[in-house]
This record gives sequence, C-alpha cells and structure tokens, in this order.
Amino acid sequence: MRFVGRTIVLFLPLMPKFFVRWISKRYVAGESLSDAIKVMESMKADNTCFTVDVLGEEINSISEASYFISEYNNLLDSIVENNLDANISIKPTALGLLIDENKAQENLSNLLKKADLSNIFVRLDMEDTRVTQPTIDLIYEMHKRGYKNVGTVLQARLFRTPEDITNICTKLGPNADFRICKGIYLEPNDVAFTDYQDIVDATNFSIDSMLKKGAYVAIASHDTPVINHSLDSIAKIQMGAGKKDPRENSGSKRNGKGNGYEFQFLLGVRGDERRKLSSDGHLTRVYLPYGSRWYEYSMRRLRENPEIAMHVAKAFFLPWTNRR
Ligand code: FAD
Repeated sequence: MRFVGRTIVLFLPLMPKFFVRWISKRYVAGESLSDAIKVMESMKADNTCFTVDVLGEEINSISEASYFISEYNNLLDSIVENNLDANISIKPTALGLLIDENKAQENLSNLLKKADLSNIFVRLDMEDTRVTQPTIDLIYEMHKRGYKNVGTVLQARLFRTPEDITNICTKLGPNADFRICKGIYLEPNDVAFTDYQDIVDATNFSIDSMLKKGAYVAIASHDTPVINHSLDSIAKIQMGAGKKDPRENSGSKRNGKGNGYEFQFLLGVRGDERRKLSSDGHLTRVYLPYGSRWYEYSMRRLRENPEIAMHVAKAFFLPWTNRR
C-alpha cells in the first residue's frame, strides 16, 4: 500500500496543476475566504459545524506571520457576520513559533482575545515533533494569561502522548480540551508507533484516558475501529447523543461544543460516516482548509505521508468506498 502511495507521489509533480486542483477541490474549500464561506453555507443540510484552517505553515521570517494574522482576523469577522457554527484551527509555526517564541505568543494572544469576544474557540493544530513541547507550552502560557478558549491536538502515535494527557489535564483541570488524532507526520520508531494496529490501540487508549480525566475530547479519525471504540467508551460512561456530560471532573459546556465530546472529519473524507453520526445525534465538525497556498501545502503533505495519496486515489477510483 505504501509502495503504491509512493509511486503516485513520485509522479504528482508531472501532472498539470489544473488536474491536481481538480482532485484537491474535494479536500480544500478554495483559495479565498469567500470560497470557504460558500462551502460552509452549501453544507447546511449536513447538520455539522466547522473548524476552519488557513492553509500554510512554518514561516521563514516573522514578518510572514502578518499574512496569517490578517487572514484569521478576517475569518473571525466572517464567522460572526455570516452567523456560522465554526471555530478556527491554527498552525503555531505559521505564527512564528520556531522563529520567535515571544512574538508567536503575542500573535496568538491577540487572536484569542478577538475570538473570545465572539465566544469562538481556537484549536492549535499539532505539527511535527520539533514543536510538540513548544505547542503545549504555548497552551499553558495562554491559559496562564486567562484565555480559556484554546486547546491543542495530541497525536496518539507518539510514545509521549499518555504522559502529555496526564500533564495537561493536571495543569488545566476542567479546561483541558483536546483534539486527538493518529498523527499525520511519519515519526521515527524511537519516538512513535509505526505499525497500524499499535497506532489504533494507542489512539483508543488516549481517547479513554482523556474521557476518564474529564477533558473535552474531539475525536479526529475516519477509521472505523477508532470511531466504534469511541462510541462504546462514551456509552460506558453514560455520555452520548442528547445526554448531558455526567463527569464530575469535566468543565462547563462551552459555546458551540458538544456534551463533552465531538467527532471531527476532514473536508471530503467519509461524509457518509459523518452524516450517520450526526443523524444519530452526535456533534460532528468538519476541518475545512482554504488558502492560496493549497498547491505547496498539498504536495508537501503527500510527500511526507504517501498513504494519503493512496486514500485519495482510492476515493477517486472507488467513489462508493468514501463519499464526500
Ligand atoms: P486512516 O486509517 O488513515 O484512515 C481511515 C480511512 O479514512 C481510510 O481508509 C480512508 O478511507 C479515509 N481517509 C483517511 N484520510 C484520508 C484522506 N486524506 N483522503 C481520503 N480518504 C482518507 N494530524 C496531525 O498530525 N495534526 C493535526 O493537527 C491533525 N488534525 C486533524 C484534524 C482532523 C479533523 C482530522 C480528521 C485529522 C487530523 N490529523 C491531524 C490527521 C490525522 O492525524 C490522521 O493522519 C488522518 O486523520 C488519517 O488517520 P485516520 O484516523 O483517519 O485513519
């Protein structure tokens, strides 16, 4: 499977850009903010909410952060103006985390302040292991400054994740708010699981640990064994569709959030499963990326993790296996 993915990735740069754009249309809302708004409006019947990401990541000079700051400011305004059920996702390296930590803190706290005025939550995406601890430290710093509308992502494939869950829950108590995913960056085997079943087991373990510790848990996986495990775990502790979060150690329900948990899906991936969860009464959220840097971003992601190319090819040639 990985070989097929690698072969596809090898030939991708030879394909005309319009063709790549046509394929990626399913996964990227468009180049501009108005494209993103249109896609969210068009999905109203899906009964889902959104987390919107401005495409791009690690910047090379701190001045480049201004593009992201201005785009996220406009995005926050548009969410309010259009009365959308959406929050935002940010890559900390796009705010300068690897260049100037103080500046990145200032950039983020300005965005959090604005988002908080409209009761909008901000998720810090998790990138590769160079920034795992700096991203967690950024969360601690923002909570210390009084911003409770921010939480990060943990990647279950990393060996360190169970300890991170414990530390974050201890420090933030009922304000701990996670997105948990397998992790898209293929990390080496001295820091991460590399086998599929080990990664699934680690993901399920992390979900259970977060639920037990009272955290808000956004389950970001399209994988049936993970979704089914989550549904079982939620039911076992009397959580679930239409039920109030019964955990004594959990935080109060925040605006636009589910009762202690939600399911998250990437735009264009396993829409059937998402719509089924939603019609069963679970809160679902779509991760919706947009931006002018879609080509570079998509190419880099595919090179880093050729399995994605395999998923995309399968969805293209066998559409009945993966509905939009
Ligand atoms: P897989 O076994 O990879 O996929 C299960 C099935 O889903 C596949 O068989 C296929 O049918 C379908 N599928 C999965 N991905 C795709 C795709 N791209 N195109 C088409 N079909 C696909 N990772 C991070 O490292 N940091 C983050 O901040 C982060 N945020 C995320 C936010 C959301 C909402 C989601 C859903 C994922 C996020 N990820 C993030 C990516 C995540 O870590 C995984 O790499 C990705 O979700 C694939 O793992 P999976 O659990 O869906 O299982």
